[in-house]
Amino acid sequence: TPEMFRSLLGAGAEKQQVRNPTDQIVDEDMLVQAIKECWIEPYFQPKFTCQTQRLCGFEALARLNHPEFGMISPDSFIPLAERTGLITPLTLQILESAVLWLKQLDAYEIGLAVNLSRSQTDPALADQLLTLSSKHGVSPGRITLEVTETAQHQDPMQLLEFLTRYRIQGFHLSLDDFGVGYSSLVELARLPFSEIKIDKRFVGNLAQSTESQKICAAIIGLGQAMGLEVTAEGVENQHALDFLAQAGCDKVQGYYFSRPMPGYEALRWSRQYSSGASAGTL
Ligand code: C2E
Ligand code: MG
Ligand code: MG
Ligand code: MG
Repeated sequence: TPEMFRSLLGAGAEKQQVRNPTDQIVDEDMLVQAIKECWIEPYFQPKFTCQTQRLCGFEALARLNHPEFGMISPDSFIPLAERTGLITPLTLQILESAVLWLKQLDAYEIGLAVNLSRSQTDPALADQLLTLSSKHGVSPGRITLEVTETAQHQDPMQLLEFLTRYRIQGFHLSLDDFGVGYSSLVELARLPFSEIKIDKRFVGNLAQSTESQKICAAIIGLGQAMGLEVTAEGVENQHALDFLAQAGCDKVQGYYFSRPMPGYEALRWSRQYSSGASAGTL
């Protein structure tokens, strides 16, 4: 139950406030320095099966830990990284830290999700990600790449080629923020995704909005019809969890279970969780 997760988490989880996008201006020079000095690190948010609420993986979410300004949220630097091309070294750093972190949980069958930007169509990146994961002995089959759309128009053939490359190498692909962007149903059918993530804007107000309820139920139905796993992000209360379980959602993530945690804390939490759960269930 979420109560159990909360009691295991104790007072921890992202206590250090992450800065609001408007709080701190990140410019290109700062971002270059942050990458060079390794100030960017992944936080980890657990993901659970919806019906049985069993831990099944973690999503790595980038944070810029500035020595003077503290934790800065990805919304303040990911768009800049995309515009400047710094997103490639940033992604490689996040993936490597996250894979090294996952290595410490090698005894358990849990997955890792890493976010990619849609602008990252550089074919070399797929090879670099594969090289990194095999260097650390983590099979790409344990890694899901979550692709978030950007508003910018993109050549569909180029996108297909880029995603197929990852899939052939064994990574799983997830379509992030589904329902609010530009993804068409044609795209969903043609591209090699194995998961869709319902955007948190729909999940967050399930209690108040019958419109959101209908949209969530429809996305879950669509996922089932197309043989895709459906994850709901932004689950913040029992009501949303109940609704999603009832509607047949596969996986859930959200503050109701846990906020993203620093690596050491997610590690400690996972070990505590696994010693409480029966063997092999983690
Ligand atoms: P996302 O991948 O859709 O991640 C979900 C966001 O929702 C995260 O925000 C997470 O902390 C937040 N969240 C989780 N549970 C809840 C909840 O119950 N309620 C609410 N209100 N929010 C919740 P975060 O960490 O600020 O990341 C924002 C976005 O930045 C991500 O959205 C992703 O698109 C992007 N991003 C983060 N890390 C990376 C990265 O390493 N590479 C790339 N390309 N993008 C990243
Ligand atoms: Mg994501
Ligand atoms: Mg997103
Ligand atoms: Mg999202």
